[in-house]
Amino acid sequence: PALTHGVDFSVLGSWADDEGGVMWDAHAIAHAVHGKVLAEGGAGSICTDTRTMRAGQWFLALTGHNFDGHSFLYQACEKQCAGVVANWVPHGWSRGFVQVEGDTLDALQALASDVRARFWGPVVGLTGSVGKTTARAMTTLALQGLNGHVHQAPGNFNNDIGVALTLLRLNSRSVACVLELGMNHAGEILELANTAKPDVRVLLNVGPAHMENFPGGLEEVAAAKGEIFRNARPGDLCIVNADDPLAMAVPLPAGVRVVRFGRKEGSDMRLVAAKTINRGFGISVILEHVARYARYANSLVSDDPVRNPNETVTRTRVEFEIPSPGLHLAINACAAAAVATNLGVPLESVARSLSMFQPIDMRCQVEAVGPASHVQILVINDCYNANPMSVEASLQLLQSVKSNRRIALLGDMFELGEISLSSHKGILQLCVDFKLDLVIVVGTCFSEAAEFFKGRDIIAFRNTSSLTNHLARFISPGDSVLVKGSRGMRMEVLVEAIKSCA
Ligand code: ATP
Ligand code: MG
Repeated sequence: PALTHGVDFSVLGSWADDEGGVMWDAHAIAHAVHGKVLAEGGAGSICTDTRTMRAGQWFLALTGHNFDGHSFLYQACEKQCAGVVANWVPHGWSRGFVQVEGDTLDALQALASDVRARFWGPVVGLTGSVGKTTARAMTTLALQGLNGHVHQAPGNFNNDIGVALTLLRLNSRSVACVLELGMNHAGEILELANTAKPDVRVLLNVGPAHMENFPGGLEEVAAAKGEIFRNARPGDLCIVNADDPLAMAVPLPAGVRVVRFGRKEGSDMRLVAAKTINRGFGISVILEHVARYARYANSLVSDDPVRNPNETVTRTRVEFEIPSPGLHLAINACAAAAVATNLGVPLESVARSLSMFQPIDMRCQVEAVGPASHVQILVINDCYNANPMSVEASLQLLQSVKSNRRIALLGDMFELGEISLSSHKGILQLCVDFKLDLVIVVGTCFSEAAEFFKGRDIIAFRNTSSLTNHLARFISPGDSVLVKGSRGMRMEVLVEAIKSCA
């Protein structure tokens, strides 16, 4: 089929797309999902949620544990959908209808695979225990040097539905696509990678997240994360964190190109130095790109440049500042630079782009709270999620901020299984070692762990609502407060409470 710029839209005889992404008609859908056209309807992009659906889109009825998209068919019709992709429609249905047998999620994935197969630009898939969304945003920024629209997952779209929807939203201007691949059990990353077929596969790190599904420990997590490389094709780029022994131990298929990033000597994209600047509000980073070329056409490029006389090594260094807090951003920036330079973006351009990085929603967002004419409270809003790795990184950030008093307001870390108590105790020990002025914990796990720290300045509350009314007693102008916990803890209500009492 003829390829237009970006995705091939020749199935529709037009490359037009709308904000919702790739356009489909009933026959194109039926072809991709092996379904039957029972009523033609119009042409439009795919949507799975009638609340956000716009007139003219196709509604695909997903069936989940808690809902059945088929109960929203009438709503889709009322909102003037082009048609629906579903198992059945009510009697007297007047819009388009492509009927599929079995799970409609398979149909969504088939549509996404169809788009993927027709997308010519590089697809980057990132996974890891922490930093996927951050690194995804940084990689997208770094790829600005490709001079075109870089498509990325909106928000935290990282599961089977999110990855498929992201691919479906590619548009004709997209020159590259950056995807976040998430998991909480084995087999998930392999499935996502099968749909996304990334040309560039990044393993950021292996850490203690979702441990309740991995009784075998971190090796088991590494194997699950390592699935990102399993179906890599010869020539695909496999980018791995050189500082993470578990990530480095993941087996790689033959013929892939390996790129290592990290602090470790010998990394292809090396994090030479990182330090906090601007009273903790930003970081300064030095990266070095080490490129190795075979000096003679028939000589092999080895891993050891010192001992291979047939090799030429070039080193390019950049130093730049990221106007966002948290030293952990440096390694994510290093990963983003490894991706972008290997896709042809010069390192200087990567540095310019990354120096515009802004924190993403509820991930180390720093805000001064209270009347500007008074001494304010500094709130580090890191409420998006928490696991031992990311809490440690945020405590380091709190430590680096210049402040009257440093206060940690920590909510439970979920899904840790057997290591839950020891992990919560470990975090409290770190708070003690850092000599924080006050530690307030919320939730049953932290409360249990706090029992082991009697006599220290640790105050435990069962839930956020029991704490909100007392906050004003604990926090004063001039304090810096880190607020962090697992998503289910909804610690952001405490950020709002601090604002209202400031
Ligand atoms: P999720 O699995 O919830 O989608 P994620 O892998 O996408 O998470 P982010 O949303 O980027 O990760 O970040 C989650 C938390 O981890 C934030 O608190 C962030 O500050 C912290 N974080 C990000 N990168 C790192 C890192 N390299 N090391 C430690 N902590 C990090
Ligand atoms: Mg994420």
